[in-house]
Amino acid sequence: MTWTDARIAQLTRLWTEGISASGIAEALGDVSRSAVLGKLHRLRLLASRQTPAAPRRYDGPTGVACPSGRMNPPPVPLAARPPEPPRSPWQEAVFAPLPETLARPWLSREPGECAFPVGGDGDALLSCCAGIRPRSAYCPAHHAIVFKVQSPAAVAAEQRRWAEAVERWAA
Ligand SMILES: [Zn+2]
Repeated sequence: MTWTDARIAQLTRLWTEGISASGIAEALGDVSRSAVLGKLHRLRLLASRQTPAAPRRYDGPTGVACPSGRMNPPPVPLAARPPEPPRSPWQEAVFAPLPETLARPWLSREPGECAFPVGGDGDALLSCCAGIRPRSAYCPAHHAIVFKVQSPAAVAAEQRRWAEAVERWAA
């Protein structure tokens, strides 16, 4: 089974219509539920449908048919939302203090200590505070993250994937 453009388009459409991964697998045929989930994950669509399953109390009468004779209102379709933008390496690295470093509040950082944010928010923002790399505001590990060199091909592929995902969502 290969993910042709037509199948990817169908996958995206069914997913945005609120069909479950196993339902999509059934509709596409010749593909497992986990393969569907894997593809959705790679398309970054998985995070786009996070509907909190808040339990709701039933307020109406029980066991009494409505005047129309219908017990249940028609299902409300899930609102389609644009897929999440791809996370940058920066976002991936934030909130992950390096092992064997002692993160401290950003404001208490001493000269020569890494400024990279590793947690907290606002005034409570924490910095890595490991020793900095020469001529950098960051320790060697965080300097490598901030100044990561991406090949033009990798950048183009990422932009293409993103543009395709938006296009499919808007279709
Ligand atoms: Zn650091």
